[in-house]
Formats: sequence, C-alpha cells, structure tokens
Amino acid sequence: MSVRVRFAPSPTGQLHVGGLRTALYNYLFARQHGGTFVLRIEDTDRKRFVDGATEKLIESTKWAGLTYDEGPHAGGEYGPYVQSERLHLYKQYVDQLLEEGKAYYAFDTPEDLKAAREKAIEQNLSDRRYKRDEMNNSLTWSEEKVKAWIDEGNPYVIRLQVPDDREEYVIQDTVRGEVKFHNTQVDDQVLLKADGFPTYHMACIVDDHLMGITHVIRGEEWLPSTAKHVLLYEMFGWEPPQWVHLPLLYNTDGSKMSKRKKIKGELVHVNVEDYQELNYQPEALINFLALLGWNPGDEREFFLLEDLVKEFSLGRVNKSGAIFDVAKFKWLNEQHLRHLDNTALAAAVKPHLEAADYNISSDAYLEQVVELMRERISFSVDLVEAGKYFFEDPQEYDKKTVKKRWKAQSAELAKEFAEKLEALETFNGESIEAALRSLAEEKEVGAGQLIHPTRLAVSGVGGGPGLFEMLETLGQETCVRRLRKAADELG
Ligand code: GLU
Repeated sequence: MSVRVRFAPSPTGQLHVGGLRTALYNYLFARQHGGTFVLRIEDTDRKRFVDGATEKLIESTKWAGLTYDEGPHAGGEYGPYVQSERLHLYKQYVDQLLEEGKAYYAFDTPEDLKAAREKAIEQNLSDRRYKRDEMNNSLTWSEEKVKAWIDEGNPYVIRLQVPDDREEYVIQDTVRGEVKFHNTQVDDQVLLKADGFPTYHMACIVDDHLMGITHVIRGEEWLPSTAKHVLLYEMFGWEPPQWVHLPLLYNTDGSKMSKRKKIKGELVHVNVEDYQELNYQPEALINFLALLGWNPGDEREFFLLEDLVKEFSLGRVNKSGAIFDVAKFKWLNEQHLRHLDNTALAAAVKPHLEAADYNISSDAYLEQVVELMRERISFSVDLVEAGKYFFEDPQEYDKKTVKKRWKAQSAELAKEFAEKLEALETFNGESIEAALRSLAEEKEVGAGQLIHPTRLAVSGVGGGPGLFEMLETLGQETCVRRLRKAADELG
C-alpha cells in the first residue's frame, strides 16, 4: 500500500511554526516512501475561520520549500480538499450512525450542559460526563417530540453515543507506543453542530478514510482525541491509519509554545511569516524544525531538505517535548547563509540592498562583495549595514577608529598612497599590497600606519574583510577618490 499522508490545518490565522513542523514531517515521510502528500483545509469551525488564511498558509509552506501533491490548489482525485465543500459527505455518514443507533439528536442548551457538569462536580463523581438519559435528546424524548422540534426549525446537534460497556481505548502510536484512555475520558462528542457543519472529529475521520490516508502524523495535542477517532473507525468498520503524534514545542523558559512571548527581553515569534519577515532563510527554518522532535542519531546538525528526505525516520522522533531555541535557529541561519554559493547569496542579499536604494553596478560586482563578506553576516539583510561602503562613499568616519587610527601624518600618507594607486597599471590585491609596502618603506613608517587609515578612509569603519582584496573589489577610481576625500575631511 503506498503511503498517503496529509497536512490538515485550520485556516484560523497565520501558519504556526508547529504547524509547519507537522507539514514538514509529513512531507519528509511521503517523499522518502515515494508517497503522496495531501493538503486538506479543515475549515468547519466557522467562528474561527479567517478569510485569506488558506492562501497565506499555502504561501508560507511554499516559501519554506514544501510542495503538495494534492490539495485545493494542486487538485487530485480525492477532492474537494476543503472541508466546507464536503458537507454532504459528513451528513451521509452522520445519518448512517443515527440509523445504526450509534449517534443521537441532542437538544440541550449550553445552560443545561453547564448545570449537568456542575452537578457532577458537586457530587464529586469520578466520571464528569453528563448522564445522557437525564438530558434532552432523542433517547429521552418521544419520536413525535423529536420530529416536531426539528420540523419547527429548533436548534439541535448530533452526538456520538459512546458505548457504556467499554473499559478503555488502546492506541498504537509510532512515537509513544501503546497509549490507553479510560472510557470516562471519552464523552458523547458532538459530530454535527447546530450550524450544520461537522465538528473536526467527524470531518477528520471521514476524510482520512475517504482520502486513503495511511499515516496520521500530527501534534501531540491531538492524542486524547484519538480515542474518539478510534471509536468512530470501529463504528464504521474502517481500518484506522497508523497514528504518529509529534512532541509538543516548548519555549526555553519551559512554557508551551503557543503565542508569541517575550523571554529574557527577546520576543519569540510563533508564526512562519514573522520569521520570513525577520529575514531568516527558509532552508534554516526547515533544518531547525526538523531537529525539533527528530535527531539523526549522531552529532550532525546541518541538513538541507534533500538530506532530510534521505535521513529522516519516524523511528527517531522523540517522545519528549522539543525546545524552540532561537539562539540555535540564528546559528543555523548563519550556517545556511554561508552554505550558499556566491550567486545564490548575491540573490538573497540583493532585494535588501535594492530596498536601501544602493547602487549595485552589476551582479558580478555583487558576487565579489558577498565572497568577501560571507563570513561577516548572519542574516541576508545584515549586508545593508555591514557592506554599505561597497555601494556608496562613506558619509562619516567611525569616531573611535578615527581617534585610534588617524594620526597626524595620516592625511599626508593617504594622499601619497592615492597617488601610488592611481599610477598602478594593474590594480589587484598583489599590486596594491606591493604599492603600500614600498610607500611605507620610502616613508620609513610601519605598514600599519598605512593599512589602518586606508581602511578607515575607504570604508568609514575599523573592521572588514582583508584590506587588499577589499580595495581591489572597490576598484582603482573609488579607492583613490575616497583616500583623497578622507585626507581632506579628516585632515
Ligand atoms: N485541523 C487540525 C489542526 O488544525 C488538524 C489535526 C489533525 O491533523 O488531525 O491542527
């Protein structure tokens, strides 16, 4: 049987990093088994539905590099892939359960339900579920009364009739092994709501069955619901998928990762889009999320998506919660940025430089710049500040460096060095260095007396890549101009 897995988000806002982790693990499992990765939109909770959220989450997973084989935008034989377009199917299966006496109509108001729960608490019952034979439903009302109520257009829901004679529910989970739930933990779940929409539980199991899903890989928060799902599979006589529940994500302060939160003065975001806006590399996010719950069994930490497809295994998914450590994420971002070749790195930094209105003479020039600067940036956007002088003459000179490096004779030396550089026929690292050293000898000063002021003059700052390569990249004319300008301005 070929593997079919699904990512089944609810379009209630932006894509959470935990959601993308779930999507990723499904994707990796599908790809390594030559299986199918399905996107299903679970939009049955109309109160939480957010317009445009589906498009946004498709956009976010695409940015991260994941592709779907089937889904609302990709098509496929098992569509429609949006639950609100499948209402007739859920209705048909709910009707089947009603006919078979496995579900019932319920008419209780929220107040009725609250009162029943309070009563159970008062009586200190270990089973806090309400007694269905004390409530308003098709099991306690006459058939005529039920019919009249419904015909008059009064509200009702349809509930699952959980068998009373059942002790426990046993789930075989790939990550957690055997997990048991006691009967009292499984309540008469609403299957069809008063607005005519199914609940998540009903829609999810009908769709997983009809879409031929072989493995349900999802967050651990769904583990308790799985008991109900198992019961529904049994009631329909369907074979359940393999259950795989991924560990929860925690912040470094031990709290569950749900909403963004300030930790030790730093805001920890939870949405994929936020990390995109903060200029993280998508490859770094994928790598980071892969390691949140899975490990390769050795010390390796750097993985590209294609490596993960080969290396990932559900057998190495951990039970214990995973910690979202932004410091590690930043480190991985740096690693992925450095892994890019000059062309790819230039393409990554270019939009930021353009947004800063820098004049980029050519792509070839930009590639030379990133070659020099690749070890000096952690984010693509960092080049805007760190590499400013590659695109415009310095407007000011770093005060501390001026104080430390610009000496009484610096202006004079800068002018003479400018002269030497102007006279060079071949302008490259070697010839520049030779010119600098011969001038230093001529003037009987240490090379440092020329090196540091020159760097300050051409870049405006005290640090940067190797001076001679930097000058070569900047070009003869620019270097000469900047040396003379600094000599004038710094005196
Ligand atoms: N719609 C659920 C969610 O938003 C999906 C849970 C599942 O994968 O079964 O997470």
